[in-house]
Amino acid sequence: MKTYEIAALPGDGIGPECMDATRIVLDRLCELTAGLNLRLTSYRAGAELYRETGQTLPDGVMSACLEADAVLLTAIGLPDVRYPDGTEVQPTMMVGLRRALDVYAAVRPVKLYPGAPCALRDTGPGIDFIVIRENLEGLFASFGGGAKVGNEVATDTLVVTRKGTSKVSDYAFRLAQRRGGRPRDGRRMVTCVDKANVFRSMAFFREVFMDVAEFYPEIEHNAVYVDAMSLYMVQNPWDFDVLVMENQFGDILSDLGAGLVGGLGLGPSAEIGDEHGLFQPSHGTAPQLAGRNVANPMATILSAAMMLDWLGDRHQDEICIRAGRTIENAVAAVLKEGHVRTPDLGGSSSTLDVAGAVATALESVP
Ligand code: ATP
Ligand code: MG
Repeated sequence: MKTYEIAALPGDGIGPECMDATRIVLDRLCELTAGLNLRLTSYRAGAELYRETGQTLPDGVMSACLEADAVLLTAIGLPDVRYPDGTEVQPTMMVGLRRALDVYAAVRPVKLYPGAPCALRDTGPGIDFIVIRENLEGLFASFGGGAKVGNEVATDTLVVTRKGTSKVSDYAFRLAQRRGGRPRDGRRMVTCVDKANVFRSMAFFREVFMDVAEFYPEIEHNAVYVDAMSLYMVQNPWDFDVLVMENQFGDILSDLGAGLVGGLGLGPSAEIGDEHGLFQPSHGTAPQLAGRNVANPMATILSAAMMLDWLGDRHQDEICIRAGRTIENAVAAVLKEGHVRTPDLGGSSSTLDVAGAVATALESVP
């Protein structure tokens, strides 16, 4: 029976509290589930570590991440901890880790759970779609580079490659195969979000997407301009299933998505490659909440659920896939019941209260 080795990076700010809460849930899940074995090993990385040692991601931690079956990370970075050139440590460290793990697809579910605060008055047939952001190129290709010409002009470079676009598009179709389709009518569809009418790079993104779509005739596909998409996400989000887009567009639309369905405390994310997976809440380190036992751990707990789903799919391990679903169902049950909520959701429960409630709910959900 396989034991999954998980590299756990508790990070900075509210990160360690969210990680502790997630461990409580995962430990209970393993107790309840015959045949599920996870071994979480904690490693320090991030801004606090940099302050103490001058390193953000020591070589030993990087190799542990490369060797692990999956990486579970909370949040990294503190505004007052900076590199000598004045930049925060978080972007550089995360880009380095992403590139090393070659995680080309950033996956953010936008799912409305009953009981979660929704920004829309009318939620129609429900909100449940996925934003997939190309994670290694696009407008972030010149990360740390770019050019400033004198004092008047600055430029960055947007790079779209056939290889990068094919991989992320292919991932989008494979994910659509595993999902239940869009809320409106269950039709499976992948939507390319771009600005193909203006930019050559974006026209190429769409062209490569269309090439990949040919391999998935059973799944519908279409393409929508990014400006129109931000309107549709608010007006008729139930018409969408899986969206795939360039890096910067994904950065923006995934935050819009998080805002639709309850805010950062509820938004998980997964970064997926051919060999590695990195799972992380979409929020940052919220330093003003750190150490107070008030942060919402649900985003990290749901990220762990995505991790189990990915591990199970990758290793053809039904127990693991079902365990991921059980965590998600337990979070949904706590939200629906409504008594245990952290302050960001309008309650007064603590981080550990939420962990306890989710762990207890594991016993009574499918
Ligand atoms: P980053 O640059 O790392 O993304 P950020 O400054 O954009 O960080 P976050 O750290 O994500 O922002 O947090 C923004 C605000 O959202 C926080 O100040 C906090 O009020 C709220 N927030 C974020 N995550 C949580 C959470 N897990 N629980 C409760 N509130 C949260
Ligand atoms: Mg942010």
